[in-house]
Amino acid sequence: MRWLLGIFVCVSCVYARHEQYDKSALFNVKVKDVEQINYFNSLDYPLDIWMYATQERDGIVLVPKDYVQLFQDELNSKGIEFVIEVENIKDSLELEDKLRADKARNRAMRSDNDLLVNFDDIYNLTEVNNYLKKIAEAYPDVVTLVNGGKSFEGRDMNYLKISNSKFEDASKPIIFIESLLHAREWVTLPATLYAIEKLVVNVTDQYLIDDFDWIIMPVANPDGYEFSHDGGRFWRKNRRNGLLPGDVCLGVDLNRNFDIFYSLGSSNNVCSDIYHGTSAFSEPETQVIRDILHSDDRIEIFLDIHSFGNLILYGWGSGDLPENAFALHVAGIQMATAIDEVKEDWNLNYRVGNSALVLYPASGTAMDYGLKAGVPLSYTYELPARRNSGSTIFGFLVDPDFIKPSAVQTWEGIKAGAIFLRNTRRNLA
Ligand SMILES: [Zn+2]
Repeated sequence: MRWLLGIFVCVSCVYARHEQYDKSALFNVKVKDVEQINYFNSLDYPLDIWMYATQERDGIVLVPKDYVQLFQDELNSKGIEFVIEVENIKDSLELEDKLRADKARNRAMRSDNDLLVNFDDIYNLTEVNNYLKKIAEAYPDVVTLVNGGKSFEGRDMNYLKISNSKFEDASKPIIFIESLLHAREWVTLPATLYAIEKLVVNVTDQYLIDDFDWIIMPVANPDGYEFSHDGGRFWRKNRRNGLLPGDVCLGVDLNRNFDIFYSLGSSNNVCSDIYHGTSAFSEPETQVIRDILHSDDRIEIFLDIHSFGNLILYGWGSGDLPENAFALHVAGIQMATAIDEVKEDWNLNYRVGNSALVLYPASGTAMDYGLKAGVPLSYTYELPARRNSGSTIFGFLVDPDFIKPSAVQTWEGIKAGAIFLRNTRRNLA
């Protein structure tokens, strides 16, 4: 009876959680010229653009149910081709729940070493924090758990410092990696957890710990991340409230809130998913990341991991190239090549380039601020979204079978970045 009740409770809570997305449709929009691209990218009713359209790529957009007909009519009237990839995204959300629940059932049969992450699911915030604490306790000579401050809602902004020389060897460069600055981009979390595992628990490349120090922040937006689990799965921003009466809309896009070209390529509309906040660094989360970037001038690589798009992007977000653009490009190509060598046949090759040229202009990004703060190799990674040939795109949703491959592949890119840095430093010395 208790078992039956449990099932009933769980099904009803899942049902309620995804209700807001019922009958939202996912469109793939095929734009064929600049006019169509500009039209698509400037639509201002409440669309959730998952992928902006470019000359090379289709746009992908989630359309709320009340706008599905209007959106189709507009595209038709402009002669823009489209395909409805998913008629009701709630079905996809329920599929993600089911796939994760299946894995969890199988896992309950095994006894796992709790210092090894189960890379067939996505840990929630509590699980991540428990894991970071356990790793720090088990490896006190190498790992230090740091609480960098509090998020808007008062959650800890935890990160690990990993070093076999207590961060005291001034000759070592530091590599700083963060994930989940955007809450819904769940597949980015295993990439940082895997990096921790490969640097601490299951070390196969000793030079990575002998020659580098590491700062790893798995959850850069804890409030938004928590909300994406229990509030709205497609939530992107933080949870800053009090911006509008009654909080009709809330949240700041943390990746538009850094003090670099602030507000030039973002939105001043609180309801927008790229709302930049009331001022640069108005948000406690971006302040914590800023302080890490300024904490040590040995930070030479900064990777801000996002999804999705198979991209490695560098500054500036305005479209201008930084002085070290050539080095950024070469290192980016080496990272991309390392990932492409181990990726699945169906997966797209990574593209490398200036973020504004490859994607779209954006201001206030962590990647650009890293460069401004003096980190020479500062990048945004956009990890791949799963899409088998002929099958539906998962987008921000996670296929448990793709979690481990995604983490392993990303790690190859991170390693290639470290090797590039080591080799160029030696050549310059
Ligand atoms: Zn993102």
